[in-house]
Amino acid sequence: MKNFEGFGLSPALAKSLVHMKYEAPTPIQAQAIPLALDGHDIMGTAQTGTGKTAAFAIPLIEKLLTNPKGSALVLTPTRELGKQIMEIMHQLLGPKSNIKTAFIIGGEPMGKQLKQLRARPRLIIGTPGRINDHLERGTMMLNDTGFLVLDETDRMLDMGFTVQLEKIFKYMPEKRQTLMFSATLPKNILKLSEKYLSNPKRVSVGEVNIVAQNIKQEVIRIEQDKKYKELMLQLHDRSGSVIVFVKTKYGADKMAKNLRRDGFTSDALHGDLRQSKRDRVMQSFRKQNFRVLIATDIAARGLDVPHIEHVVNYDLPQVAEDFIHRMGRTARAGAQGSAISFVSNQDGRKWSAIERLLNPNAANDKGADRSKSSQKPKRKRPNNKKRYYRGKKKAA
Ligand code: AMP
Repeated sequence: MKNFEGFGLSPALAKSLVHMKYEAPTPIQAQAIPLALDGHDIMGTAQTGTGKTAAFAIPLIEKLLTNPKGSALVLTPTRELGKQIMEIMHQLLGPKSNIKTAFIIGGEPMGKQLKQLRARPRLIIGTPGRINDHLERGTMMLNDTGFLVLDETDRMLDMGFTVQLEKIFKYMPEKRQTLMFSATLPKNILKLSEKYLSNPKRVSVGEVNIVAQNIKQEVIRIEQDKKYKELMLQLHDRSGSVIVFVKTKYGADKMAKNLRRDGFTSDALHGDLRQSKRDRVMQSFRKQNFRVLIATDIAARGLDVPHIEHVVNYDLPQVAEDFIHRMGRTARAGAQGSAISFVSNQDGRKWSAIERLLNPNAANDKGADRSKSSQKPKRKRPNNKKRYYRGKKKAA
C-alpha cells in the first residue's frame, strides 16, 4: 500500500493523517491496518520506531468513528508511553472530535480520572495496575469495550502485570478484537496470545530481536571506575542529544548532577520522581533545553524523541531484551543513530546474554567475532584502551 487512501478511511481520519504529515504507511502499518480494519486479532512484532503506534491507533480510531457505540482500551506498561499514545490518538481524532478519552495511570490523583470516567469515554489508555484498581472499585466498566490493544506486552509481563492483565480481560466482553504488540516474543507472550487472542494474524517487521540497522554500534571494554571519564570524552566527541542508561535511580540523579558540574546540560528520569517532575523532564528534553538525559530502564521502552542521536549503555541492562528497547530510542523512523555500550569485567554474563539475543549464531563463535571486530578500530585511543567496533549490526 503506497498511501493511506487505499485503506478507505473515514474523511476525518484521512484529514488528520494529512495534518500529521503521514503520507505513506510504514511497513508495519501496511500489514496491520487492513487486517485490523477487517476485524482480525493481531499478534504483532515490530522494531521500535517503526510506526507501531499508528499501526494500532489508526484502525482503533476508524472503529470509534464508524461505530456509534462501543469503546476501546489500550494497555501500556509505562505512563510515558501511555502519554505518547494518547497524543497520537488525539492527533488522529482531530481537534473537533467529540469522542471522549480517559488517561488512567498510576501515580496520579484519582479525582481527575474519576471525572474522565464519569464522562463515558470511548477510548481509555492506561497502565494495568490503576485500570485494575478502578475496575475493582466499580468506577470503570469495560462491558462494551470491544477493542483491546496490548502495547509492549513483553514489558508489561516483565513488570509483573500478568495477574492484572488477566483480571482486566475478565471484565471485558469475550467477543472482542484484540491487538497485541510486543518487541520480543518470549514463551510467556506466546502463551498469553494463545489464551486470549482468537486466530490472530501475525504481523512482523524485520526479524524479532534485532536492533534497527541504521544504528551504528560501538562496544567499549572498560573498567568500572573509568566509565565516567570515558563518558565525558564521548560527549565531547559527539554532538546532538544523548540518552545515557544507568542501573539505579540514585546513580541517575548523581550522574546528572556530576555532568552539570562538568559543563554538560543534563537531567535525570527515573521511577522515583513524582509524575509531574517526570513530565517536566521529558518536556524539557523534547524541547532540547538540555542535551543529556540520564535514565533508568523506565525510559527504555517506547519513548519517541526524534532528536536523540546517541544511546549510551553506561550500565548494561538487567534484562537482555531491554538492550533492544534502549537502542530503539535512537534512529527513530529511519533516521541515523549511534549506540555505545560500556562493558566492564563484571558484565561478562550480561553481555553474553545480549550477544546471544542479538545474534544467536555469532554467539557460538564468539572468539572469531571479537578478533575480527578488534582488527579495525575507528580511531586510536590515546590511552590504548581496548575497543571493539562493530559498525552496523545485523543479526542472523
Ligand atoms: P512509533 O514506532 O509508533 O513510536 O513511531 C515512530 C515515529 O514515526 C513517530 O515519531 C511517529 O510519529 C512517526 N510515524 C509513524 N508512522 C508514520 C508515517 N506513516 N509517516 C510518517 N511518520 C510516521
